[in-house]
Amino acid sequence: MMSEAKTKVLVVEDEASIRKFIAINLERSGFAVLEAETGEKALEMARACRPEVMVLDVMLPGIDGFEVCKKLRDEMPELIIIMLTARGQDIDRITGLEIGADDYMVKPFNPRELTARINSVLRRIERMKAPDDEPLVYKNLVMDLKSQKFYKDNVEIELTPTEFAVLKMFMSNVGRALSRNELFSAVWGKNYFGDLKTLDVYIRRIREKIEDNPSKPKYIETVWGYGYRWCDR
Ligand code: CA
Repeated sequence: MMSEAKTKVLVVEDEASIRKFIAINLERSGFAVLEAETGEKALEMARACRPEVMVLDVMLPGIDGFEVCKKLRDEMPELIIIMLTARGQDIDRITGLEIGADDYMVKPFNPRELTARINSVLRRIERMKAPDDEPLVYKNLVMDLKSQKFYKDNVEIELTPTEFAVLKMFMSNVGRALSRNELFSAVWGKNYFGDLKTLDVYIRRIREKIEDNPSKPKYIETVWGYGYRWCDR
């Protein structure tokens, strides 16, 4: 890690004091930090500088954080997006995850917690990139662990890093019922205190991407009161 280039984090927040505070703390933790104060500027900088991570406030003047997330999600599926939401706005969190954010933090937060979240997503992606792994294949679905790409009927389906991680758990455990807790800690880590609803949001998004009919899923089956199973039939 030490010899490698620093991970670039783009911090998007219009309130200068909060933005600087986050930036200083991330720099101290070894990240290369870029800053943007509006959504428009964030899009411009993301495209020009290709950061690995974006810390994105929802409330911005002009186009808001959700719009920025939606726009970039398609263009840069590999970008890690962590949304910042105001306290008590549950709706914001779910919306953020539904449009493809990888995680969220509720303001005000401890900057160390933000660093921990970023590192946890980065580690998860690193783990996914085990270079000698053979692709995971299930019928017409192929998960290429080397290139981090996913194909259905030989057509690539764009997945975010988190969606990829969830799907990898299923494709490595075909036919086995996985509890929500088990899935959650495998993907987000044992010390993550987010709520289990997050997982359901991800399952819905993944179904929309990979299932022929997301309301009648044939790959990811719900195991009522327990979790989910990758069906094998
Ligand atoms: Ca703001």
